[in-house]
Amino acid sequence: MTSAQWRLLGHEIGACTACAELAVARQRVVVGEPPAAGTIRGGSGRPALALVGEAPGAAEDAAGRPFVGKAGQLLDQLLNDVALDRAQAAVLNVLKCRPPGNRTPRPAEVARCRPYLERQLAVLRPQLIVALGLTAVTWFLGRRTTLAGARGRVHEVTIDALAHRVLATYHPSAAIRFGPSGAPMAALRDDLALAATLVSP
Ligand code: SF4
Repeated sequence: MTSAQWRLLGHEIGACTACAELAVARQRVVVGEPPAAGTIRGGSGRPALALVGEAPGAAEDAAGRPFVGKAGQLLDQLLNDVALDRAQAAVLNVLKCRPPGNRTPRPAEVARCRPYLERQLAVLRPQLIVALGLTAVTWFLGRRTTLAGARGRVHEVTIDALAHRVLATYHPSAAIRFGPSGAPMAALRDDLALAATLVSP
């Protein structure tokens, strides 16, 4: 990954108005974040992880950063619990702009925004992608995929002629919704623990 490539792509995404409704309603485009400078070690030059969620929420839209609201705070805590460092991960979303009222992204919006995430992943070449929630999981694995059927396993996916390993799991907001004793929280914990065994720092 080069920071110049990332920066150029970020400028392009930041100026996008392809989804008229989202472009009018948003405060900021949430391009996503690459791993922190100096955190990529080892011979491959590839970041350990890319975490991919659905779309910015209100907190992210205001801050211009991904996963900074309650779901992001839970994600940080769960990563910490399995000795994964968010700073070593790229943090991205399927959509770069907040859908009004946090509604589910529409298929046409996902399709319009798709090339940006494809190009981000091509620049980053992460060792492992963690797809958080159904929108991200179906982005990688197809619309017929169910979260229950796909989660907890690594899927080999080819995107734009590049091979990626994708671990499917729940979105942290589902873990919050079902509470600390709910199945999504346990599954997310288990899946992030698996992710930690699959990457080299
Ligand atoms: S969601 Fe993606 S395609 Fe739609 S306006 Fe935002 S950056 Fe452009």
